[in-house]
Amino acid sequence: MATMIIENERTKAASGKTYEVRNPATGEVVDEVPFGDVADVDRAAQAAAKAFTTWSKLAPNKRAEILHKAARNMLAKVEEIAPILTKEQGKTLLESRIEAQRFGENIAWFADLADKVHGEHVALPDKTTYGLVVRRPIGVCGAIVPWNFPLTLAANKVAPAIAAGNTVVLKPASTTPLATLACIEALIEGGLPEGVVNVVLGPATGDAIVGHPLIRKIALTGSTPTGRKVMARAADALKKVTLELGGSDPCIVLDDADLEAAARAISVGRFFNCGQACLAVKRLYVQEAAYAPLMEKLVARASKLKPGNGLDKDSRMGPMHTDTQRAEVEAQVKDAVDRGANVLYGGGRPKGDEYENGWFIEPTILENVPDGARMWTEEVFGPALPVRKIKDLDEGLRLANDSQFGLGSSIWTGNMAAANRTVNELEAGYTWVNALQIAHDELPFGGTKQSGFGKEHGVEAFLQYTEEKSVVYGGV
Ligand code: NAD
Repeated sequence: MATMIIENERTKAASGKTYEVRNPATGEVVDEVPFGDVADVDRAAQAAAKAFTTWSKLAPNKRAEILHKAARNMLAKVEEIAPILTKEQGKTLLESRIEAQRFGENIAWFADLADKVHGEHVALPDKTTYGLVVRRPIGVCGAIVPWNFPLTLAANKVAPAIAAGNTVVLKPASTTPLATLACIEALIEGGLPEGVVNVVLGPATGDAIVGHPLIRKIALTGSTPTGRKVMARAADALKKVTLELGGSDPCIVLDDADLEAAARAISVGRFFNCGQACLAVKRLYVQEAAYAPLMEKLVARASKLKPGNGLDKDSRMGPMHTDTQRAEVEAQVKDAVDRGANVLYGGGRPKGDEYENGWFIEPTILENVPDGARMWTEEVFGPALPVRKIKDLDEGLRLANDSQFGLGSSIWTGNMAAANRTVNELEAGYTWVNALQIAHDELPFGGTKQSGFGKEHGVEAFLQYTEEKSVVYGGV
């Protein structure tokens, strides 16, 4: 049985309760894990607060050295960790390997920043005094993670937090704790000191983290409704919050685009991870002359995405993570079809014995989806893509911005002026121009509108795990 990790000790829940983690491809039990609650979060927060007193005072270059060594140890175990992720989450082994690799690389990327904290000198009117702005770590940080990219999204929070000298109480999604535990175990085995990262498990631990008085900052990736609740709860103690929430990324393809490259990026963007990604092509707007050739290319690509158990090397798309999640996407597709949409590809569940016990779904492309359909107004968190023909960029931008969300976005065009206009006018935290929607470590990532606020990745994320303090030196 897997355990939680508090102060580098493998620990059961104080209540003794447990729950099962199941494989979304087969329904089989993968492992049993502790069902933690408020008491366990309290232990973890106390451990993190104790560790903060030494970790935050460690010389930054020493901290960087420890984190690099821990990351190297974790990266040596990617092949062990990837199948664990596939079994609990459903994604293909290739996707799991990429994700596990990204975890270690992210720790290393932020480790490089640990000894590069910069402040400022500020001249003051009285020449016998001078001002400084210094940066300090915040304290204990809470990291709350969803199930779609359990490792990447944990690393996005843990890596900048600990590199900046903070300590962490980490809560994976209840259904995907196992690969995360394996990654943290590997960091500890590689020398991460006790209490720097503590892992608690169970659905109630998220709320307990947000409410715990020792925890000073909360970073959540999750749905927009969860973001609202977390922000309201965090307001009680005026905690800092970073909210990475839902999205419905528009993609505009103009007539002068490289359609082969666009089709590849849209297919990866919509179907990677079985469509369960925050950054994903979720609404497609295509100019008239590009429409027919692009649809042909997209359908050809979708038809090659064989659904299957992620452990099977022939599978190109794993199952959805839960039956509820699949039912939600199916209801959104049905709503579009009921309103008159045409199914260009997929639209149902794959048939065959191997699909009987898992939450499989076909990659799906729908055209003529009427205005007001759920696929346009809600986040579609699965492999189903609504497509619409547009006359020109004006119409594309108007429709793209007609959303409560503002996470990612993309445009495909050969026209620099159209690209520039899109960069300026699209309401989103990220715009890709003729490029695959991949979040880079180097660039700050985060949303606008109902997609949340605050940044992960980049120097910006690192700085958000520090606090500025002004100092006046009056001389001695
Ligand atoms: P979710 O909001 O249900 O859960 C996310 C995490 O929050 C889980 O660990 C959950 O246990 C915890 N949680 C739930 N209620 C809580 C509460 N009241 N207080 C504290 N913690 C609580 O989301 P999900 O279904 O696991 O993930 C899918 C959602 O995540 C989608 O909306 C997706 O767009 C979003 N997401 C966003 C990003 C991004 O970076 N913007 C990335 C990936 C996923």
